[in-house]
Amino acid sequence: MSLQFRDTLSGETRPFTPLNSAQVGVYSCGPTIYGPAHIGNFRSFLFADTLVRWLRASGHTVRWVVNLTDIDDKIIRAAAVEGVAIRELTDRWEAVFRADMAALRMATPDEMPRATEHIAEQIALVQQLLDRGHAYRTDDGSIFFKISSWPAYGKLARLDPEAMRVGERVEADEYSKDDVRDFVLWKAAKPGEPSWDGPLGPGRPGWHLECSAMSMRYLGESFDLHTGGIDLVFPHHEDEIAQSEAATGKPFVGTWMHCAHLHVSGDKMSKSRGNISRVSDLLAGGAEPRALRLALISAHYRTNLNYNDGSLTAAASAVARIDAFVAALSARLSITSGDADADQRAAALAAESWTRFTKAMDDDLAVPEALAALFDLVRDGNRLLDANCSGTGAQSLIDVLENIDGVLAVLPDRGTLPAGAEALLAERIAARAAKDWARSDTLRDELANLGVLVEDGRDGQRWRLAGPQV
Ligand SMILES: [Zn+2]
Repeated sequence: MSLQFRDTLSGETRPFTPLNSAQVGVYSCGPTIYGPAHIGNFRSFLFADTLVRWLRASGHTVRWVVNLTDIDDKIIRAAAVEGVAIRELTDRWEAVFRADMAALRMATPDEMPRATEHIAEQIALVQQLLDRGHAYRTDDGSIFFKISSWPAYGKLARLDPEAMRVGERVEADEYSKDDVRDFVLWKAAKPGEPSWDGPLGPGRPGWHLECSAMSMRYLGESFDLHTGGIDLVFPHHEDEIAQSEAATGKPFVGTWMHCAHLHVSGDKMSKSRGNISRVSDLLAGGAEPRALRLALISAHYRTNLNYNDGSLTAAASAVARIDAFVAALSARLSITSGDADADQRAAALAAESWTRFTKAMDDDLAVPEALAALFDLVRDGNRLLDANCSGTGAQSLIDVLENIDGVLAVLPDRGTLPAGAEALLAERIAARAAKDWARSDTLRDELANLGVLVEDGRDGQRWRLAGPQV
């Protein structure tokens, strides 16, 4: 089977063919940085992480963009409540987000653009829409997208155009729109709110606009994959398609992929329901980050994930099983004599496990089947250790585990840390999250003095012990 994905727009599962063979472009709607992200948010980010990792493992060069929404009504309100500048608030929460990402071993996106640093691109996009007759200005100076000018509107969410936007909070009192369905591109400046001057007049961009402007800025007018939570299909992604395609006259995205909700006791996790669990709280409470990662990626991305305290306990015991297996394999590596038949079966098990894993991931990222291949590998590999396989057999199993781990990222770091190193590693993650590069470098030197070599890769900070190691 070749790689295939379910596309929300067509409703079909289709073979994946990059638009440009040199690079696959992936855009994921990122966080609004005014508070801590909850695990429902991170389920969606880790789904995108798994997608990107699998594309890379399949040999594609990927450019992954995750935006940071750093201007909107909620941010303006939160900064006012705290009495701090917006930039101070968003810098602080960006650092927390990056620390959560690192703790959960999310690969670092190639770009994490902020909306307020791409105002020129957003103004240019609105200008294009005005020029082409797809946008209009209201009396107060705000600019709206004219949905009646775009007959394809509603195709992603499969909505009846007449019934659209029912239930959505429509700011009809604040803005004199021509049509209740029209959405805002540019909000005219209001007293006490930040605004930007320019050809559109003083104002600030609407939320939908930033994702179109920044995705096209970094990935081109047409790109391969756009991800987000299922609740972003409408209106956010519907609006992105309309404003992008109306402006460029080209197809915006090749494949739309949406992650289902995370449920707690049958309810969607959301701030308004008050049932949220934050990544930072869980980790501070002693949760093993790898267990949390495993719990959040374990269900298929298109099915709802039912999360409870038991999910974390189950994931922690699964991680412990992996750790014990890796430790047993590592201990076997230096053993040169063993059962030749067991070594042969180990090589066959490694090959078969990778084939199963690949087949599952190629099938629209079927992580549950991929995990089944991993845990069967652990079970059968333990039997081969019992059957006295040598270091050669152990090495073939470690090799396939590492290939799998390039995608799932749940294997333990290697070796036992010397005293004090754990605290320095944690401090270094925090320093990097705060972009304190000087401190991060100092800590790397201190760790090296303890014999711990730190590397910064796409997966964040990883360490290994100096000297010959497994
Ligand atoms: Zn977005």
